[in-house]
Amino acid sequence: MLSVDDYLARVLASVEPLTPVEVPLVAAHGCVLAEDVAAPWPLPSFDNSSMDGYAVRAADVASATESTPVALSVIDDVPAGFGSAEEVRPGTAIRIMTGAPMPAGADAVVPVERTDAGTEIVRIGSAVDVGACIRRAGEDVVAGEIVLRSGTLLESRQMAILAAVGSGHVRVHPQPRVAVISTGSELVEPGTPLTHGLISDSNSYLLVAACREAGADAYRVGPVVDDSAAFLAAIEDQLHRCDLILTSGGVSMGAYDTVKAVLSELGSVDFMKVAMNPGMPQGHGHVGEGRLPIITLPGNPVSSYISFENFVRPVLRRMRGLTELHRPSSRARCAVDLKSPAGKRQFARAVLLPSGEVAPVGTGQGSHMLGGLAVAEALIVIPEDVTAVRTGDEVEVVDLRGR
Ligand code: AMP
Ligand code: MG
Repeated sequence: MLSVDDYLARVLASVEPLTPVEVPLVAAHGCVLAEDVAAPWPLPSFDNSSMDGYAVRAADVASATESTPVALSVIDDVPAGFGSAEEVRPGTAIRIMTGAPMPAGADAVVPVERTDAGTEIVRIGSAVDVGACIRRAGEDVVAGEIVLRSGTLLESRQMAILAAVGSGHVRVHPQPRVAVISTGSELVEPGTPLTHGLISDSNSYLLVAACREAGADAYRVGPVVDDSAAFLAAIEDQLHRCDLILTSGGVSMGAYDTVKAVLSELGSVDFMKVAMNPGMPQGHGHVGEGRLPIITLPGNPVSSYISFENFVRPVLRRMRGLTELHRPSSRARCAVDLKSPAGKRQFARAVLLPSGEVAPVGTGQGSHMLGGLAVAEALIVIPEDVTAVRTGDEVEVVDLRGR
């Protein structure tokens, strides 16, 4: 039996970050940048007003107070997006809006709130310092500065600066496309009435959602019945559509475990037992001439999910070009006694209590138990060499919410 860490290392080694492509900026959201991006111009790119008000010469209004305002004649009006051809000379002002370029001659802006808002003559009710309410060119970013480094995940805040420096297209690692194939003759589409022995295919919904949450572009295939020809056809069909195939089911010791039977014969997929609970039967390798990566997950839904968390999520993050592959973990006191199988790493579905403790959820920890999984917020990770956790012991906790 392989350890979780050794199996993870093998699976990670079987994939590469996806080859970078140039995409329109709008499509880059959620991708990882594959180039350094420099600002071709400074930010702001010109001196501009930070307030709606009046561009003035600070010296002109040095004596202004609320009771003894200074009157200036308003010689022009500049909205954002326009400049003024006029120059602010002694005794004059230009009405200016937030973001409009500073007119020549002016060295400060008086916010409109401190004036009578006049359009011909304005009465200014307070003095201002030179430079007041002016956003200087280059005060944020200087021209030529690298604003984002290769390897940066593009979230909302990073999208903003790319747009601001005019990056209409950027080079990114594309989102991995993942085909999720459920196998099992007992599976039907959710919404279909169940006759005896049939169940709804929940794994493909679980795994597609988990892939998407991990930043991949995933879609469902199947469910595919336990039949070699049908399974092979489903695999064939996906060879040129995706970057990774994920299957669920059919990898245990059952007589109808088609996935293992078919892929073992192809010779490029390895099946092994991993020392974990749940999720012991695992498989990974490549299929087709293009050596498309494939990961075969066990069919029991909780096993499938725990396997996804441990192996597929890091694989997807690697394909996306990220270097931080794992969820952060922390430690918390366990609120109850727990047992764990010797020699296996156990992953118990759990919730974080208001007390800061962690406790298992659900009516049990069976690998078919979706009720507990649905309310779980975290996993308690019990190491291979620990067989019992006592109330109050510190345990490793992986928070499944957020990233
Ligand atoms: P298998 O690995 O194919 O032997 O499946 C193990 C268990 O998981 C069986 O009880 C299956 O019915 C169940 N199972 C397999 N695939 C799915 C699926 N897509 N959705 C829900 N349960 C599944
Ligand atoms: Mg099956």
